[in-house]
Amino acid sequence: MTKSNLSPCVHDEPAPHSLAFKILEEQLKTSTVIFPGSKAYADTTFIGNLLYQSQRPVIIVQATSIPDIVTTIAFCRANGYQLTLKSGVHSYAGYCLNEGGLVLDLSALNGVAHNPANDVVTIQGGALWKDVYSLLKGRDLRLMIIGGMCPTVGVGSFLLGGGLSAFSRKFGLGCDNVLEMIVVAAEGEIVTLSNKEADQKRKDMFWALCGGGIVAVAT
Ligand SMILES: Cc1cc2nc3c(=O)[nH]c(=O)nc-3n(C[C@H](O)[C@H](O)[C@H](O)COP(=O)(O)OP(=O)(O)OC[C@H]3O[C@@H](n4cnc5c(N)ncnc54)[C@H](O)[C@@H]3O)c2cc1C
Repeated sequence: MTKSNLSPCVHDEPAPHSLAFKILEEQLKTSTVIFPGSKAYADTTFIGNLLYQSQRPVIIVQATSIPDIVTTIAFCRANGYQLTLKSGVHSYAGYCLNEGGLVLDLSALNGVAHNPANDVVTIQGGALWKDVYSLLKGRDLRLMIIGGMCPTVGVGSFLLGGGLSAFSRKFGLGCDNVLEMIVVAAEGEIVTLSNKEADQKRKDMFWALCGGGIVAVAT
């Protein structure tokens, strides 16, 4: 018999609660900071793929507002921490975690709104497709959207990767149906980009978001 090379899933060693993290915690208006050693930490870092399960971010911020996301990005830039976003946890290679950096968990930002006047759907960055499907199904069974075949895939990351739907042959990729995106950029600025941009730079940014498969990293 050979010994397994898999790292054990150890999530119970408390990391040093340094002063910097405490200051970040105080700066966040409504979001929660999760430290290693807690059940919330073990739950939030569980990704199902044992190959990558052993990645241990130094802290997790469970974001509940855009200003808190801006604050967290500024903290990572100022203190040199890698920043990784997490929403639907469907990346097989565990891209929603990192080792020794900060994870920004977007799962609480899962609001979805449907405007019946124009059938435009507004979806927050941490929503899953099931959040969207259940809202639309509750309104009108004829409403459909170019979403993921798996209901627990994150909407934001699906669209950033293009997004292949069961309806794509007729209606294109998920990203072909996006009208507007609000993005928190690396410097912390909030940028709203639409599919009607005239300025070439903004047009290119929107194009890059439609399939560029962005993985947010701030150092
Ligand atoms: C069972 C299964 C079914 C799938 N079905 C489909 C399908 O039908 N069609 C299809 O096109 N793809 C499908 N995929 C692929 C899926 O769209 C991608 O793996 C997607 O990146 C998963 O996103 P997530 O938020 O669920 O995962 P996560 O692991 O949470 O995130 C994936 C990556 O996106 C980043 N990220 C997360 N949220 C955001 C955000 N709001 N803004 C910026 N970056 C973010 C993370 O940092 C990470 O790098 C499927 C995958 C699985 C495992």
